Amino acid sequence: MKKVVKHITIIMLVCILTVTGCGRSSSVDSFVEETDYQYQYVYGGGMGGYIARAKDTMYFKIGSYIYQMDEQTKILMPLCNKPNCLHDKETDDERIEECYAYFIENHGTSASGPEGAGFAYMNGYIYYVTEKWEDGEPHSYSILYKIAKDGSQREKVYQWDGLIYNWVMHRNVMYYIEHTFDESGKEEYAVKEMNLAGVGKLKPEIFYKPDPEEKITSVSYSGVYGNHLYMEEFVGGYEECTIKTLQYNLQDKTLTEIQIPNQSDTEYVSCVTFWKNRIVYHVFDMEKDGQYDATEDVYIADLDGTNAEILLKDIPMYYQFYSDGNYLYVSNCRECEIKIYDSLEYQNNMNNLENMKWDFKLHVDVYNQDMELVDSVEPPFHDFPYEPDYGIGDRVYVKIEDESGDGVSIQYWDKTKIGTYHGDEYKLTKLCDQTYSYLDKKIRKNEYLRKK
Ligand SMILES: [Zn+2]
Repeated sequence: MKKVVKHITIIMLVCILTVTGCGRSSSVDSFVEETDYQYQYVYGGGMGGYIARAKDTMYFKIGSYIYQMDEQTKILMPLCNKPNCLHDKETDDERIEECYAYFIENHGTSASGPEGAGFAYMNGYIYYVTEKWEDGEPHSYSILYKIAKDGSQREKVYQWDGLIYNWVMHRNVMYYIEHTFDESGKEEYAVKEMNLAGVGKLKPEIFYKPDPEEKITSVSYSGVYGNHLYMEEFVGGYEECTIKTLQYNLQDKTLTEIQIPNQSDTEYVSCVTFWKNRIVYHVFDMEKDGQYDATEDVYIADLDGTNAEILLKDIPMYYQFYSDGNYLYVSNCRECEIKIYDSLEYQNNMNNLENMKWDFKLHVDVYNQDMELVDSVEPPFHDFPYEPDYGIGDRVYVKIEDESGDGVSIQYWDKTKIGTYHGDEYKLTKLCDQTYSYLDKKIRKNEYLRKK
């Protein structure tokens, strides 16, 4: 009897630990690095990023392969520890897919190409979604794969009947948008969640289905943080489009629209960033669209959208906000990009863009936790406006393509030097080089022929 009691006590203890342990870690309204959506890396969000971090290991997608880099040793290696695998040096087309580090894609048919889709890190695995296009069929579908973080294993996790878009991973759940066409050819969107930690067959569930009568043109994610997922919904046709930012509460499964007090019909909330366990966002006024000198107020609110207040007044309307949790970055990169796209030079030289020189000056203001402006920096990207991922920790990593076009180098900006620039350009430090794989060199030269 004593023995039984002891067992029951242990079982109960395990249950309590499991319940409180998981309950607590999965419900905090703050960023948890190992399990959460890494908003610091995913510029634009939605199809995975090209950089992710797991403790001291960085993951990069370079061409068609995923690499891991220990931050201390600075050695870049394909994410595959299969013995006898040539990894990125494999020249046999039949064997290329066998390497775990290879990002399975159907080159030659995939619209996205080798740099198109990204990946995400969550709880010990790198996840990515790839598209498969059947030969001679209009039918295409998405597949989810995962690779163990040490490259010891690769697994096909799920296969859809059609294509999915805009997926994110957060706390063992995958959130994604399914875009389908009904028999009359009418497009439909469904936003779904799929628990990847459950036992048995994975079961996607719809948590939001936009009203097809409203002519939704698309739905996209802005990110996930704590118990909240944010998405932007484009309502109406392409001509008269309005945008709504919706917040889905992952705990009580409710959906609300993020709005400012007295929001007008032409205003909409956009570009949610996470800052001090709250959200920062722009209020964009469509009436001012195209006016480069127009300004807007930037708001901060609780994660559910309540208690909205002005954070910064009169910020140029195309400036963007980014956060790495430590600093808030206010960047003019998007504005430079828009000005280039709108320019006559751009429109008249669409076929010769590589040789064009653009006139722009990048600028980023950096705010600390107390919203003091602690520095202004000039990012060292001169060919075309480029916004790096600000990243977790002290480094902003970037991939810089070699002049020869044969590979890339991994470089970083040391953020511990923030406070010393006073408007000057920051320098990148080179960590390592990586030549493109055999396959990627062929893809770049348009020599890769699709397998029959
Ligand atoms: Zn390999």
